[in-house]
Amino acid sequence: MDHLLDWFPDRLESWLGERRQPAYRAGQIRQWILRRRVDQFEQMTDLPKQLRSQLADQFFIWSSRLLSRQQADDGTEKLLLELADRERIECVLLRDDRHHRTACISTQVGCGMGCRFCASGLGGLVRNLSTGELLEQLLHLDRLLPAGERLTHIVVMGMGEPLANLDHLLAALAVATDSQGLGIGARRVTISTVGLPAGIVRLAEAGVQYHLAISLHAPDDALRNQLVPANRSVGIKAILEAADHYFQTTGRRITYEYVLIEGVNDQPCHARALAALLRGRKALVNLIPLNPVPELPYRTPAWAQVERFVQLLQTGGINVHVRYRKGDQIEAACGQLRRRTMETVSFGREGPKDSGEPIPTSHRQMACGTEKHTPGRTVQLSGQEAEGGSSGRNRFTSVT
Ligand code: SF4
Repeated sequence: MDHLLDWFPDRLESWLGERRQPAYRAGQIRQWILRRRVDQFEQMTDLPKQLRSQLADQFFIWSSRLLSRQQADDGTEKLLLELADRERIECVLLRDDRHHRTACISTQVGCGMGCRFCASGLGGLVRNLSTGELLEQLLHLDRLLPAGERLTHIVVMGMGEPLANLDHLLAALAVATDSQGLGIGARRVTISTVGLPAGIVRLAEAGVQYHLAISLHAPDDALRNQLVPANRSVGIKAILEAADHYFQTTGRRITYEYVLIEGVNDQPCHARALAALLRGRKALVNLIPLNPVPELPYRTPAWAQVERFVQLLQTGGINVHVRYRKGDQIEAACGQLRRRTMETVSFGREGPKDSGEPIPTSHRQMACGTEKHTPGRTVQLSGQEAEGGSSGRNRFTSVT
């Protein structure tokens, strides 16, 4: 049997054509599943009975099952899904008081990018998700909403690197944004990438209006190589060039995501370097105070440090938002819930790009400039930077 959602929309039309069914039947089937939240072919009452029976013989609609559902006080809900091969993924529904109902979906089981502060990257990449598995996350989340509500936005920010699974992602988003599909406007879709230049260029050429967010997390290659090992073979310069191409092609402003980690990348010198890097670009910096992962030693900066970082970026002429964490009570950091529920840590067939130890605390007290990232050297708080630091804990900014 086949997963019907993998056959949307073209293959399903062909299949129907082979059975002498008109093409509009495909639209009817999509409507039943995507808009009317029906789960059984038998319930599709405007289809001929024989066709319903043929569909049931050939296809299944759901390939995953819901393992757990967690809800936070702020309305955020996180689902843990088990796929047909028993791998597990997470997806999240975010609600806000502007009536936005946002689905955050995963694109891979695990992730091969190996970011040091991320639970999803700890076990490496297992596999890409299929188009149907991507769509199915949206359907699970949509069905959490009451009858009068629909998903309004999609953020592709869950487990995995979206641009490493671009074919399936584009196919799933085409269905999600189609007026015959989930009907979510393309400009309400955000794809967040660690920064794969070839994928960014391909996305730019795809003729879609998705919003692109690049997870930068560091203003220079020396620090980024440590936080995001995938950067070693790419470099920030190539990422920014691809991002500029995306902006020129689509006209859509790029968002640069920056997870603030206490004592690692949250210092005033990092803010100034980031402002210098992005100056002159049509860009928004999204600052995200770290959502801590219990297995990892990184901490969330004090609020005063976040404010100082914002202020320095704004002084440098950069547009800034601070993204508040949602769903703290439900392990909403990507990959956390999946890891906790795995009986044993299942390491991927393709390990993380960098399987080294997390950066030890003494090595994390890093300042700007390549030579200053030397691990294990003595660091001292300078008077100038001390002015910006608040509590002083781990606020080391110059190397002696
Ligand atoms: S932050 Fe994103 S790209 Fe990095 S390891 Fe986690 S899921 Fe992968």
